[in-house]
Amino acid sequence: VDYTEGQGWHDARIIPYQPLTLDPSAMVFHYGQTVFEGMKAYKTAAGDITLFRPERNFARLNASNARLCIPAMDEALALQALKELVKLDESWIPTAENTSLYIRPFIIATEPYLGVSPSKNYQFIIIMSPVGSYYAEGINPVKILVEKQYVRAVAGGTGEAKTGGNYASSLKAQELASQQGYAQTLWLDGRENEYIEEVGSMNIFFKINGTVITPALNGSILPGITRDSMIQVLQHKGIPVEERRISITEIIEAHQNGTLEESFGTGTAAVISPIGELKFGDHQYVINNGQIGEVSQLLYDTLTGIQYGKIDDPFGWRVIV
Ligand code: PMP
Repeated sequence: VDYTEGQGWHDARIIPYQPLTLDPSAMVFHYGQTVFEGMKAYKTAAGDITLFRPERNFARLNASNARLCIPAMDEALALQALKELVKLDESWIPTAENTSLYIRPFIIATEPYLGVSPSKNYQFIIIMSPVGSYYAEGINPVKILVEKQYVRAVAGGTGEAKTGGNYASSLKAQELASQQGYAQTLWLDGRENEYIEEVGSMNIFFKINGTVITPALNGSILPGITRDSMIQVLQHKGIPVEERRISITEIIEAHQNGTLEESFGTGTAAVISPIGELKFGDHQYVINNGQIGEVSQLLYDTLTGIQYGKIDDPFGWRVIV
């Protein structure tokens, strides 16, 4: 779909996957004016194609648009377009266990202009690709490095938007983490380097003394759709859950006094990823003996059960295409 100043969004079309032709001065190349989403389509045993809360992705896309000065999309039209695209060829959606069709909607600023201002023209594109497990470890616990030097996002920045710049700023720390054998980076706040934000591509949860805690949304954390869903599942199951500020000191103290029971990340690609070890400075903190915790397993089973149509969906999250 194209956007032209004065004309709005127009010319929705489905075309074969192919390279784009863009002017070398297209503003996206120079000023990073771009937003994206990540979602999945699943195939159920009954042969249905499902999406998981897709309206939330398009609402978040528009929230990101607002932050990046990109004109809003018609969310209903975007969802309709996505459904048609997914239905085009069912063979794109793999059926093996835990596989899905990853969907990447994105918007780029295409106006050829050198100068920092919002572009007058954009393209909205959806690409898709079959995927399996996100981590080589599968649903086995991953090791995460707490980042002390670099910062992903700060209050007032673009951390809450799903925009390329946030990921560009995280590359260096991610590279250093993987060189040390860690799957991802755990980001702290940019001001005091003390409060927990999120992981490279997941929101994070801790279970301390029976209560599940996740950092409250503060403007610099991505409002994950899986995060929101898992908070609702925990409430539904009667497991105490809190959204609040939580410091790395509190985590280390809980580890030391034996009350840090579990940790896991949540995300569309990562699903529920148990965290088996946190490294902070020179110390390695092993969580739950490096095993999958009960709550992580429960949430994994509930989330994938709803997505793959294996269990009831009391929340109305499963959308059949
Ligand atoms: N945080 C970041 C930085 C992410 O890239 C993602 C993946 N979109 C998430 C959290 C999880 O968000 P969601 O559950 O909507 O996939």
